[in-house]
Amino acid sequence: MRKSANLLTTFVLLLVFIVLLTSCRGQTFQMPEKSTESETLTIVTSFYPVYIATINVAGDVPGVKVINMTQPATGCLHDYQLKPDDLKTLSEAQIFVVNGAGMETFMDKVTSQLPNLKIIEASKGIPLIKGDGEDENPHVWVSISNTVQQVKNIGQQLAELDPEHAAQYITNTNVYVDKLEALRARMHQALDGAGKRDIITFHEAFPYFAREFNLNVVAVIEREPGSEPGPAELAGTIEIIQKSGIKAMFTEPQYPAKAAEVIARETGAKLFILDPAVTGPMEPDAYLKIMEANMKTLEEALN
Ligand SMILES: [Zn+2]
Repeated sequence: MRKSANLLTTFVLLLVFIVLLTSCRGQTFQMPEKSTESETLTIVTSFYPVYIATINVAGDVPGVKVINMTQPATGCLHDYQLKPDDLKTLSEAQIFVVNGAGMETFMDKVTSQLPNLKIIEASKGIPLIKGDGEDENPHVWVSISNTVQQVKNIGQQLAELDPEHAAQYITNTNVYVDKLEALRARMHQALDGAGKRDIITFHEAFPYFAREFNLNVVAVIEREPGSEPGPAELAGTIEIIQKSGIKAMFTEPQYPAKAAEVIARETGAKLFILDPAVTGPMEPDAYLKIMEANMKTLEEALN
């Protein structure tokens, strides 16, 4: 009897203790049951280069999740159509980081369907180069200086939208910008004295890069991914190369090199691979590594 009475007392005391603890928690912490869910800030990026810039700024900030909307192998978003899965991904995010400069042609659909989603346009304020026809060339990130500006834009706007982590965004921005600027300085050292300055590229991804390193893009072999040049365009390119005497052509790892191989065979020009950093490893230093490899390729091709 005594034993069970003791048990009962213990049980009642335990119950009182739990009730006290629970009510105490209820007063001290606001809505503890929602804590982990509501404290996660989800940032979605539109495609690879924007993803790499954003993980450098926000990737290690506690409670922040960075997701890339498109598959890693998507490449440029020219004429990209939003999929239902993309809209689902965006509907679960608070912030959408885009390249801008006309790369994401689907933005009307995003802003009309998700009016509360905050948009960060990475290319804001970057002077744009005219592309083919009316449009501006959207491949701004292929220039390191432009990537520096994009990273600063992302950092500043994230700091404004998520002031709690502002100091971390700004510190991360500065650390990454320092690395980019150091690489840019080394690339100038390697390329400024190169004897040849004329290059032939594969799709229209390199005008910003060429401007940064004082190179001339004299011909573009295939302007849009997936559109093989017709016979007349091929013949025109072969003529330009023969007249120019250019002995180096640059294809991209993301695109079939068939047309380039035909031209190389016809002209005797050598093929090199120049990477516009539009696909690659999903790692913070991926852009730096790609540009470092481009530097070595150009050093070999232009000297
Ligand atoms: Zn492109």
